[in-house]
This record gives sequence, C-alpha cells and structure tokens, in this order.
Amino acid sequence: MAKKYVYYFGDGKAEGTSNMKELLGGKGAGLAEMTNLGISVPPGFTITTEACVEYYKLGKKYPPGMWETALASLKRVERSMGMGFGDPERPLLVSVRSGARASMPGMMDTVLNVGLTLKTVEGLAAKTKNERFAQDSYRRFITMFGSIVMGVPREHFEAILNLKKEEMGVRHETQLDARALRDLVERFKSLVKEETGKGFPDDPNEQLKLAIDAVFSSWNGARAITYRRLNGIPDHWGTAINVVAMVFGNMGDTSGTGVAFTRDPNTGERKFFGECLMNAQGEDVVAGIRTPLPVTELGRTVPPAYKELEHTYKRLEKHYRDMLDLEFTIQEGKLYMLQTRVGKRTGISAVRIAVEMVKEGLITKREAVQRVGPDQLAQYLYPIFDTQSEAGSTPLGKGLPAGPGAAAGKIALTPDRAVEMKAAGQRVVLVRDETSPDDIHGMNAATGFVTARGGMTSHAAVVARQMGKVCVAGCEAVEVIDNQSVRIGSKVFREGDYLSVNGSTGNVYDGDIPVMESEIIQVVQGKLDAKQSQKYQLFSTILSWADSVRTMKVRANADVPDQAKIARGFGAEGIGLCRTEHMFFAEDRIPIMQKMILARTKEDREKYLEQLLPLQKQDFIGLYREMEGFPVTIRLLDPPLHEFLPKREELMVEIAQLELTGKDGVKLEEQRRLLARVEELHEFNPMLGLRGCRLGITMPEITRMQARAIIEAACELAKEGKKIVPEIMIPLVGMVAEMKSQKDLIREVAQETMKRYGVKLSYLVGTMIELPRAAVTAERIAEEAEFFSFGTNDLTQTTFGFSRDDAAKFIDHYRTVKIMDADPFATLDREGVGSLMKTAIAGGRKSRPGIKLGICGEHGGDPSSVEFCNQLGLDYVSCSPFRVAIARLAAAQAAIAEGDAKTTVKKAAPAQAKAAKVVKAVRRAKATQTAKAVKVTKASRRPSSTTRKKR
Ligand code: PEP
Ligand code: MG
Repeated sequence: MAKKYVYYFGDGKAEGTSNMKELLGGKGAGLAEMTNLGISVPPGFTITTEACVEYYKLGKKYPPGMWETALASLKRVERSMGMGFGDPERPLLVSVRSGARASMPGMMDTVLNVGLTLKTVEGLAAKTKNERFAQDSYRRFITMFGSIVMGVPREHFEAILNLKKEEMGVRHETQLDARALRDLVERFKSLVKEETGKGFPDDPNEQLKLAIDAVFSSWNGARAITYRRLNGIPDHWGTAINVVAMVFGNMGDTSGTGVAFTRDPNTGERKFFGECLMNAQGEDVVAGIRTPLPVTELGRTVPPAYKELEHTYKRLEKHYRDMLDLEFTIQEGKLYMLQTRVGKRTGISAVRIAVEMVKEGLITKREAVQRVGPDQLAQYLYPIFDTQSEAGSTPLGKGLPAGPGAAAGKIALTPDRAVEMKAAGQRVVLVRDETSPDDIHGMNAATGFVTARGGMTSHAAVVARQMGKVCVAGCEAVEVIDNQSVRIGSKVFREGDYLSVNGSTGNVYDGDIPVMESEIIQVVQGKLDAKQSQKYQLFSTILSWADSVRTMKVRANADVPDQAKIARGFGAEGIGLCRTEHMFFAEDRIPIMQKMILARTKEDREKYLEQLLPLQKQDFIGLYREMEGFPVTIRLLDPPLHEFLPKREELMVEIAQLELTGKDGVKLEEQRRLLARVEELHEFNPMLGLRGCRLGITMPEITRMQARAIIEAACELAKEGKKIVPEIMIPLVGMVAEMKSQKDLIREVAQETMKRYGVKLSYLVGTMIELPRAAVTAERIAEEAEFFSFGTNDLTQTTFGFSRDDAAKFIDHYRTVKIMDADPFATLDREGVGSLMKTAIAGGRKSRPGIKLGICGEHGGDPSSVEFCNQLGLDYVSCSPFRVAIARLAAAQAAIAEGDAKTTVKKAAPAQAKAAKVVKAVRRAKATQTAKAVKVTKASRRPSSTTRKKR
C-alpha cells in the first residue's frame, strides 16, 4: 500500500491525533487534536514530515501520490467551506505553514492567502463587500509569496509601501484605501517581474505547489540550520506542512488575531496571558511590528468570542495537562483556533507550573520532574542586580519583562557585532528595533537583548525564553538611530557603551550595574532565609521530588571546605573528586612546593613535604567536617610538577634583567637554579608525561605524605566521634602493578597512622579510569582497586587522541561539517568512550562484584551524560558544586526514562532486560550495604564553588 503522506482535518474529525507529532509536526498534531475535540478550527490538511524527508531524498521532488492526495484533501476543504480554490465567486484561500516536530519559532517559512489571483481577488471583494480588505490581502500575499517563494528582497516591497504612504500622506498602512492598495498591487507585480523576469503566478494550483516547495526548502534555510544546531534538533527530521483554509483577522474592527498562553510563560503564574491585534493578520503579532493589546482586551471588543476563547483555553489545558501556547483568529466576531502546542517557558516558570499543576491535581510528581529541563533549572541560579545599586539607578525606559534575570554589558547594535564583541571576551547586550530569525547568532552571543518594538510574544521574547536570556521587549524609549548609535530615553549611546537590563521588571538602565547571586545561591550561602524566598521553595520542592525517584547518587567535585559547603547546600551526597593539587596552588604553599620540587635528594624533599603535611591535613579536616557522614574521595597529586614552577620564558626574562642590573647576585643564582630545574622537568607532552600515579611511584614520599594527611585528619575527627568515610583515589592508572604499588604504600601508611592514633577507620583505595588501557584491563585492576571513578576528561582525551586543551580549535569545525554532533569533552561520547566504560564496568564487576562506580569528569554535570551513566548503572555522578542540583534532576529524569525503557525492553529484548535486571539487583544490594555502613545524617543543606575545569 502506498505511504500516506497527507492527513485531513475538518468538520469535527481528523485523520491524525495529538500523538502523531513525529509525523504531523507539533502544529499538525495540535490542529488534528483540536478538531477531534470539536473546537472551532478551519479545515485543512497536513503533509507529513516523512514527505519532506522523501522530498529531499528524491532531489526536491514530491514522493509518489503526495500531490494527488493533497489535491483530493483540498477538495474536501472546499466542500467543508462551501468554496472553491480559484473559484471567482466563492474563492477559497489557504495558508501554507511549516510545522516541525519540535517548535522552531519563526525559523521556517509560512505563506498566507494562497489562491489569490486576478479573478479571485475581485470575487473576494464582491463576496465580502469589502474591496479594501481584498486588495489588502492581495498586496500582503504578493509580498509574502514574492519574498519567500520568488526570492525578491522583502525590503524592496517595504520601500514601495513606504513611498506609497508618503504619496498618500498617511502614517499607517491601515490608512491606505482600496484604490491605493490596488495601485500598490500593480507596483508589487512590476517589481516581481523586474527582479525575477517572471510574471506573478496567477494559477492557484501553481501557487500552492510553489509555496509547498518553499516551505520544504526552508527546512534547510540558514536560520533553521543554526537554530537546530543551537537546540540539538536533528537535521533528518524534516518539517511537516499545514495547508489550512484562511480565516481573516483583517476584516475590520470585530476581527483580529492573537497569541496567548494558558499561564504566564515568564513567571508561571496561573493567569491567561497573551496579546492580540485587531484588524490584523496572523504574522503581525509574532513579528512584533505593531505593539499589541493584552488578550483580555477582547473581553471588551468582542465579548462572545472572548468568552469562547476562555472556555477553549481552559478546556485545552485540562486536556493536555500542560501550559499551552495558542494562536487564534477572530473573523467578524467568530473565533477560530489556529494552533495549540505546549508553550515555551522560562526555567523559572517551568518549575512553578510543574509544582502548581501537581498541587492542582493535574499531573503527578513524577511528571512534574519530567517537565523541567535540567538547564531550565539552571535559570534559578542566574544572577540578579545588586538590589542597592539598582535602587540607586533611574531607569531610562521600561519595556516588557520578556526574559527574566539581570544582564549588564556593552551595547551591540547588530547581531554580527554582538558575535565579534563576545569573541573578544565582552559581555554584550544586543539592542534592536525588533529581532528577526536572522538575528539568531547575535542573540546567542548576547547575555541580554532589548527591542524597541514587539510584545511578550514577539520573536525576541520567544527566543529569550527558550535560550534563557535576559530580555526587555517593546521598550518604547529605545530609538535605534543607525548601526552605531541608539537613543534610550534622553541619552544617546554609542555601540560599546554599557547598558543594564532587568528582564524581570522590564527596566533598562545606563551603565554597568553590578549583579549579585540569585536567591537560590543566597539561601545556599546562608545570606537569605529559605522561607523568605518563593523561588527557593519551588526549587527545593521539585528537587525533593527528583530525589524520590532517582537511584544514582550525586556528589560534587570540591577541593576546599567552602566549595564543599556550597555543594552540600545544593544537596551533594559526598565528594567525588578532591583534586589535592589545588591545595598546593595556594599562595602560602607554592614556595614550599617549589622547594620540594627543587630538592635534589629524597631527604630534602621529605623535609618540605613535612611542612606541607599539616596544611593538607587542615584542608582535609575542613572537607570532612562539611561532608560528615558522606564519602569524601581524595585524589592524590596528579599534574606534572613543572606546573608548580614559574614559566621557562618568564624566568629567562627575569634572569636577563638580573644579569643586566647585576644587583642581586643571590636572587640571580636562585633563579638560575630554578630555570635549570624547569628545563630538566620540561616535557614535550606533559599530558602523557610524568603525572598521575607515575609521580607517586617515582617519588613515593609524596604519596606517603598525602596518605598520612588523609588518614590523620580522619583519625582526629573520628576521635571527636564523627563518621568519616575517606576514599583515596589513585590517578591515571594504566596497569594493575601501578595500582598495587600505590595501594600497598597507602595501606602501610594508614596502618601505621591508625595505630598511632589508636583508631580503626574504614576507608577505600580505588582508582580513576582515565586511560584506555585501564578500561580494557579493568578486571586485573579491580583485583587491587576497591572503586572506580571514570575520569572522562582524560579518558576522552586519550580515547580520541584529542588534546583536551587544544581540541576546541577543530571540534567546532568538525561539528559544522557534521563529523561530530557534539563536543565530546562536554557530552560523553557514548560510542567510543562509553564503550570503554562498559568494558571497564564489566571487567571491574567480574573480579569485584558490587565494585563502587562513579564518574568525576566534567560530564558528571551534563544531563545527557548523566543519563548514560544511569544506563551503565553507576552508583554516582560527581560534578561541580553549582551543577549538583542540575545533576539531581537529570539523574531523576534518567531513572524515569530507564524505568520506562526497561518496560519496553522487557517485551522486545529479553537479553537486555536481563542485563537491566542485574544492574537493578546490584543497585538494590548496594543500597542495603550503604545504608548499613554509612549512617547518613540528614544534615541541613548548606552552600560551594567551582572546580578547576581543564588543565
Ligand atoms: C578527568 O580526567 O576526568 C579528571 C576528573 O581528572 P582531571 O580533570 O583533574 O585530569
Ligand atoms: Mg584526569
């Protein structure tokens, strides 16, 4: 049977449903569902995403049967409307709209009023007894079709329109009468002829075909591609097309069009929220060309239609059990719904809506957890303006608070400049009259944007909400003078001047107002009472629900006590990585460290290590205190020693200067010795050189000192009655013999230390899995290692052979030319690195069933990688303290997905289901073990800080 490429909807019945988003696109599925619910939707049909994919496969040709079925469906639309496509008496017009699976606002094309011809325009005028309306629709059609389908620059049409307005002495196009519009139509047609050498098509079927081609082609337009890259939407999805009978919002004062949300998409407040424009057509609202009225205004202008709209939105929200984004048109007092889909929202509102919908009994807690994207949760951590500084500043203007948060930066007036300024390391605020999909690269580069025109549903506002940017839209005080200057209120700014933008209030200020931490961070740091912050309440509620479903633990990478404190505040359940070298980098320690490195004999080295010991011990005591009852994984020294010494070139300059002045002979000698040692330690490939466990093996006194500091600190606290759980981690192990040599040394020191203190501690000695050799020989390594923690930064580096410090230079290019989808240093490469992890896990479990498994590379805070770790059955992920909350949510979502996946797997693939069962059983067993071994104190959740990202 031939594939079905076209799905009809109309007369209360649709061939599709809301579950067919992949095939019909979001818009098509929504139209089908509304039709089935008996909501007033104009009839039409959806051409599937599969048809688009085929269209490209066939070299831009329709798949067999598609066009014929489209024409047959069009006949049904004609019958339903009692009109004919191309019929001069009762002309049917249609809109041709893109609609992908995932919403891509404004990124693809739409053509309205298809079917207008020399004859039908007269028919439309006669039937509606409104010549002006018919000509207005025709000139809009020629503009849209001429620019989108025939490639005539839109500005050329606009220039002619402006000229006409001037000639007629009017300000707005709504003031042009039918005659003027008729003349405009003629001029537009001449323009098309001049620019393309072709006449404007007058056959409705040809128009429809060309419009369908253009919409399919817009899937691969530059802005759609950029958008897909930014939002991780696969290129192979294709777009669906909706061909729908036109209804008109531009038929006079009882007609209009609007966009609305069933709740506030910025704050999440439960109130009907939206905008409308009277006597206007669909695109006018989204394009932000005229500043619209609040949707509630319709209650005054067209009360029955508004009543129906209210009834419809409530019904739809209940039906979909989510906040929805609606598009509608009112034609002479009658309401038509044109679109419904799950509404885009800020992170702030996503959490509020999810939490409140649980309280309203609309959704379950589990669903609430699934409704908030981990990166949306991150918006709770965005900075706000310093309250006092903001109170002391007078706003230059106020617009709509379209993207919450605070941003201060240098003004860029074009998207290209925004990109350049960002590349030069500047914070950028993009200021525009209005934004369009072509600005997307600049919007991505800016931390915030301000537009002079447009409402809460304008392009700028929609994009800000999605990207999590700060945005003030429709700020009338803004007047862009040219590409270099802008007037805001009474002041003229040049590009590069500072501007501060409060996207929560809509205020725009002169200068660079300092920003301060978000309420959540203030609570976590103990600066704000949790009870006083509604945001914190929402944040912690959703996270507590996440905690109740996740199975993986979340730890933090923290090196010093105040980071550990913040990590606890965000709910970290231990430290997964303390990079001890960060303690040596402290100002008071570096000279001792340098002396230790410069020492020529073991005895000398030990003397300086002895000085470092108490300092390290104090750090560990601090960490243990913050993490009492939770495991603390301490990694032995990892980087090559030359990292602690000054740079070779700097030393050479200093020596040359000392030689020149000849003043300080002692210093000169000292620096010469230092240089000699720096040169001795120099390595061509330090990442593959004397680092990790190789250091501790060649200089065992370092390992000895660190082991002593770790165990002494634990013993001291154990004596105070504290429950301390140290896990000592050996870096960069590739061979079991390396592991054994370090472990034996540590055990020896630990035994001796515990004896000295008269304390019996339980502690673990394990390793990082950072090298392919470690992964493939994990079975042997686990004979010695009591836990594995995947160091996926190094494991990615060594698996790909990409230097982690230099790969950024070509990874971007690799992504552009589609060699790679994502940066493997940010998102775990499941195919390669992931496969080594699987091998390591299998090996590790073979010789040590129930071996503790974690990850502490940067991937531990990346939601997609967290999901993968959950699939692998890791016990925990460890990430930067500020990512802990995000990882908690991601781990919960992974657990839910895994549960769901397992149900499907069980039916489809018994072998995989069995593997999944094993993972579950191991987890259960471990959970019982841990519960017995560690009495977890439910300590108050307090505050943290960043870790070293990459070397
Ligand atoms: C790693 O390699 O993933 C890791 C956590 O160690 P570092 O980043 O310190 O090399
Ligand atoms: Mg490493």
